[in-house]
Amino acid sequence: MSHYSGSVPDTEPARAWLVKTPCKADPDAMFATSTAGIEAAKDVCRSCSAVESCLQWALETGEEHGVWGGLSDKERRALRSRPIRPISIDDYTGTPRTSRQGLSFQEIWDGGTLADGEHLLWVGPKVIYRRGEQQVTPNRLAFYLDRGHWPEGDTKRTCGVAGCVRPAHLNDRTERDEEADLAVAV
Ligand code: SF4
Repeated sequence: MSHYSGSVPDTEPARAWLVKTPCKADPDAMFATSTAGIEAAKDVCRSCSAVESCLQWALETGEEHGVWGGLSDKERRALRSRPIRPISIDDYTGTPRTSRQGLSFQEIWDGGTLADGEHLLWVGPKVIYRRGEQQVTPNRLAFYLDRGHWPEGDTKRTCGVAGCVRPAHLNDRTERDEEADLAVAV
């Protein structure tokens, strides 16, 4: 069975992420059934720049077999079985406390992350809340819950694994500046 058989999207731009993906080198390997084979397939996804789009597609289409977007079929089934709860505007309060109207940032975090070895993959919404220029993205939420304040400027991923939101693998402009100052001082 090819990794691209079945219901792979055939419209642009939905299909754009399929171009030059590393699993094309050995599509059948992505359907391994042994634990070692599945882990090897997930390793292939870790080097793929399309991992987020791929996972989103696999979840939306209910793809039942193989490793897609870095997750095995069992892991995707577990994700799909999670209840979907609305996120309230009251969550954008700047505090991690639970809102009676909706989910707290902590609850959104708990429901949107999936451990993957030393990494933590984000499987929740791409933007958690947006109002005008303000928006809470998974990276910003990770930073806030870990550091206790919102990041300055862009957050950047230091591990290079697409979709990883482990707070220790993220930094903001202030932290990057501090690191650069330290490097100059040494
Ligand atoms: S995330 Fe994995 S399965 Fe999806 S296109 Fe990339 S390498 Fe292939």
